[in-house]
Amino acid sequence: MTASTRSTAATTDVVLAAVGLTKHFPVRRRLFVGGRRAVHAVESVDLALRRGRVTAMVGESGSGKSTVARLLAQLVRQTSGDVLLHGSPVRATGRRFRAYCRRVQMVFQDPFASLNPVHTVRYHLTRALRIHGSPMTAEELLTQVSLTPPERFLPKFPHELSGGQRQRVAIARALAAGPEALLADEPVSMLDVSIRLGVLNLLRDLRDRLDLAILYITHDIASARYFADEVLVMYAGQVVEGGGGEAVTQHAAHPYTRLLIASAPDPDRITGEASEVEDVGGGEPPSLIDPPSGCRFHPRCPHAMARCAVEAPPRLAVESNGDGPHWAACWLYDARTVAEQAAEVSP
Ligand code: SF4
Repeated sequence: MTASTRSTAATTDVVLAAVGLTKHFPVRRRLFVGGRRAVHAVESVDLALRRGRVTAMVGESGSGKSTVARLLAQLVRQTSGDVLLHGSPVRATGRRFRAYCRRVQMVFQDPFASLNPVHTVRYHLTRALRIHGSPMTAEELLTQVSLTPPERFLPKFPHELSGGQRQRVAIARALAAGPEALLADEPVSMLDVSIRLGVLNLLRDLRDRLDLAILYITHDIASARYFADEVLVMYAGQVVEGGGGEAVTQHAAHPYTRLLIASAPDPDRITGEASEVEDVGGGEPPSLIDPPSGCRFHPRCPHAMARCAVEAPPRLAVESNGDGPHWAACWLYDARTVAEQAAEVSP
């Protein structure tokens, strides 16, 4: 598929979507005196994964991004909201769960933990092919993930492979189902830096060859910049900014995204202004049992205004740089705020 046809498909071909996806984990009663408490892990998340596109979800640890992947994979059940597969709500239980798994597969962070150490590569792949009734062979799967010649890898046990090779086997096993969407939860964060790029290039190659919709979960915004067509930024269970990969990483709008970029150990600093961002909250993410009112970032935000502590900002459009729609959930982009700031500046 060429770049232009991929771009056209991207506007129409949503494979998997989330609408108002919310997950609250109940907290055990004896930890608290009084009423029922819950961890507000994911709050009203909307997203769309499109055929032949990589969507990166970026955020610090505990921001809820892995929970979003597990909700989309139906490994945990949402508190409210919907997961939509080709526009139809998913209720994946029993047999329907297996059918759903054929279309939506997950790749986990730790390839060593996701492979059984007492079984060979051949066992892992042939078992997955049998479960999903695929006509492919284990050799073909290994060739798809560039582990060649396949005969060399099929008899090996996980401990005989490098980290990168193990993650490629885990990806090959996910491909055994013939999925349309791949949910990759920090797929390179446990690998040596030198082999991360190879695995990201493999995922990008699979996106193009198999027309996969890929969700790439990461805390590394620099890799999202390199790899993703679209970037969503999560903070404290909410998506706070979204747009094209270039727009979000080169022209970050939300103060939290700017802070994330400024914190990245990137010698090729994305923008000079990012390094000037300060974190007035001392770098502490908020409690998700009792999240801050209004904008959840307001205790850490150097631009916080009175309304930020009271009113939760909606998605507001920010100036587009030709990389598709770009928005931020921040009152700085509200017409009223812009008018008030302009009035303050003018004599
Ligand atoms: Fe900062 Fe207010 Fe924007 Fe939140 S809404 S990021 S507190 S300026």
